[in-house]
Amino acid sequence: MIPVTTLAGKKVALFGLGGSGLATARALVAGGADVIVWDDNPDSVAKAGAEGIATADLRTIDWASQSLFVLSPGVPLTHPKPHWTVDLARGAGVDIVGDVELFVRERRAHAPDCPFIAITGTNGKSTTTALIAHILKTSGRDTQLGGNIGTAVLTLDPPKAQRFYVVECSSYQIDLAPTLNPSAGILLNLTPDHLDRHGTMQHYADVKERLVAGSDTAIVGVDDSHCEMIADRVERAGTKVVRISRRHPLADGIYAEGTKLIHATNGAALPLADLDGIQTLRGSHNAQNAAAAVAACLAVGVSADEIRAGLASFPGLKHRMQPVGMRRNAVFVNDSKATNADAAAPALSSYDRIYWIAGGLPKSGGITTLAPFFPRIAKAYLIGEAAAEFAATLGEAVPYEISGTLERAVAHAAADAEKDETGPVAVMLSPACASFDQYKNFEVRGDAFVSHVAALDGITMLIGSATGDK
Ligand code: ADP
Repeated sequence: MIPVTTLAGKKVALFGLGGSGLATARALVAGGADVIVWDDNPDSVAKAGAEGIATADLRTIDWASQSLFVLSPGVPLTHPKPHWTVDLARGAGVDIVGDVELFVRERRAHAPDCPFIAITGTNGKSTTTALIAHILKTSGRDTQLGGNIGTAVLTLDPPKAQRFYVVECSSYQIDLAPTLNPSAGILLNLTPDHLDRHGTMQHYADVKERLVAGSDTAIVGVDDSHCEMIADRVERAGTKVVRISRRHPLADGIYAEGTKLIHATNGAALPLADLDGIQTLRGSHNAQNAAAAVAACLAVGVSADEIRAGLASFPGLKHRMQPVGMRRNAVFVNDSKATNADAAAPALSSYDRIYWIAGGLPKSGGITTLAPFFPRIAKAYLIGEAAAEFAATLGEAVPYEISGTLERAVAHAAADAEKDETGPVAVMLSPACASFDQYKNFEVRGDAFVSHVAALDGITMLIGSATGDK
């Protein structure tokens, strides 16, 4: 845990005790702050109270005496409208921050030079974050991985020299971290997403820009117009910028040419790494993630050899296009995280011949936007409530069966792939649907896929445990 020493002896109010909120409250208490916490959910309040943390309805406290208000990133700061606690804090002139801000203050106070890489973007955040941490770890560095990826940042080990932090930041976390100043900050890409919480694309982009604007080295994917403008603006303001492209060569920066990552600098373009054959980094979207990860590792002093070794051994992230098993010519891929058609597109574009397991609880629009990938699908195995709708969309274009359950779909797809003599194929769960009709969540669905794969005769599993390491 990172005790929040910068607020020792100060009064601090905190709202939102789910997930990182309770961890933040503990870190504040451990650092000696006089903390008072609250949540709309009485169970969460009771849990904090049972640990000895002071609780009170924040409508009833003396706001004027609070030094700071800590808000969980899940609670609206701006859109659709500020949470009632935000109005009370603002009314009393109390600054509002989140756990990432508390972390950056601790780092500044105790180890301002310890390498800190922060990652944001609309897509690819977790993959890039995990990849950077993996490269650092395999090179023997003391590596702390956290933030939006699932480990609350204040539960990590405290900052000290030569300890590396890799922190995934959602827009909400950036919005609540006014002095965010990573050694290397990555903005991968920007497409409309979560606009319900950010109002407009402009506001969403402005928030994301703050992460790179505050960085010593700003690493920006310039394949969309928002990010391109941000890279120019941040550079004009005097920050060192490393541009990333998965689509076109750059005069200066790191770009993908097929599976090769090229480093262009001072008029020279040198190959830096080749992703060919790295199953966990297939597809041009992963070339973007890998190029950004490479840039960040270079920025904090990792050598090209160490980077190449880390890329080659990246185990991938669970449930995101994760190769989990092999049998003869077939790789079995768990892409359970693809809960809508857009999310399934990168996986479908990354393999040439696919035995595709899809379905679950359908989202509006179904799979009509995936039609460009239909020629890659050898056969579809449809499960869950979406089966009939997806069958209608596939129509004559793609052979399909209504398998109903995931277990039957895996068995049938594996048997058909076994008979395929055309070359390498993928048996892939990329459902383009939510899981709730048959599973608790996409993780449980992915784990079920992996255990059905593990039960196949003659399978070689590519992951450590039955359900795979993260
Ligand atoms: P995030 O953490 O931003 O949600 P993840 O790394 O968890 O992103 O990836 C989630 C899904 O997003 C992947 O399964 C893939 O389909 C897609 N994806 C990953 N990286 C990119 C990228 N750079 N550009 C577009 N889509 C991507």
